[in-house]
Amino acid sequence: MVLRDNGKKMSEEEEFFGLTKNFKLKEFRCRDGSDVPEDLMGNVRLLAENLQVLRDHIGKPIRIISGYRSKKYNTKINGAKRSQHMLAKAADIKISGMAPKEVRETILELIQEGKMHSGGVGIYTTFVHYDVRGWNARWKGSGVKDDIK
Ligand SMILES: [Zn+2]
Repeated sequence: MVLRDNGKKMSEEEEFFGLTKNFKLKEFRCRDGSDVPEDLMGNVRLLAENLQVLRDHIGKPIRIISGYRSKKYNTKINGAKRSQHMLAKAADIKISGMAPKEVRETILELIQEGKMHSGGVGIYTTFVHYDVRGWNARWKGSGVKDDIK
């Protein structure tokens, strides 16, 4: 059983069966163990719905290596001061059998086609960051080769 900050019990459905067909809420939990706060549930739901579009398009499982981050955890790992992860609007993802470059290109296509929500897409050497901030932001993490447009 998971209790929210306000002491209410989270439904088992939310905790285990998930936000969408392939994404469970617990996959977005902060790595320090804290749950996505109640007031950010709308954000994490929107994020999961958009990741589901990507999941359906590629037909491969998506691994969430970092979803929601509490403020404390974000500070600890030196995350960006206004990280979308703290709003439960961002996920760093890995897809087995796809290079970060391919994952990024696929997300950009789906955004362009209006199938995924516009937002931030950052490429790193081993994963891709996607967020649903609502406007487009693009960046490359350090060590990523310059041949990426
Ligand atoms: Zn990220």
